Amino acid sequence: MSSYGSSSRSSSYSSQRSNIRTYPNGVAKCGCDQVPQVRTAWTKKNPGRKFIGCVNRNIPGGCDAFDWIEDEVCDKGMQIGRTLLTRLDEKEEKLKAIQAVNDTLKVNNKKMHEVIQKLTTSNNALLTKKQSDDVQIHALQNELYKYKSIGWILKFVFIVVCATWMYKVTKKY
Ligand SMILES: [Zn+2]
Repeated sequence: MSSYGSSSRSSSYSSQRSNIRTYPNGVAKCGCDQVPQVRTAWTKKNPGRKFIGCVNRNIPGGCDAFDWIEDEVCDKGMQIGRTLLTRLDEKEEKLKAIQAVNDTLKVNNKKMHEVIQKLTTSNNALLTKKQSDDVQIHALQNELYKYKSIGWILKFVFIVVCATWMYKVTKKY
């Protein structure tokens, strides 16, 4: 059995399940015929520890090809890695909170836009009504001016008639 790297690695991780075969041409392949990839684990148990695994390992029913290619992280490295991971978790929590606020703002913004649109529509309707009212007021003002003019003419005629009548009456005596 030739599992990936097991002959040249220390015994601390050669016992890991591997299912990665290295062919005579040097190409390593897993059970699902993929070339396994080297990645770095960022778990609390293995912070920053390199491994080789199949690209399909995280999908349900995926390939189980996996092998550590680095020794376990030393105590100091573990401590640093865990601290960094905790800080990263805190940052991610903050980011999530900010994203939640952002989502709420987006929803509020959308609602505000809808209100603005409704107000604009209502405003346009009021403007149209005002224009129509202005036309009516203008027509009524014209009519009022016409009646006022007739009134002045009638008053003038009345004064002339009265003056003529008074003149005739005073002339008799
Ligand atoms: Zn695979």
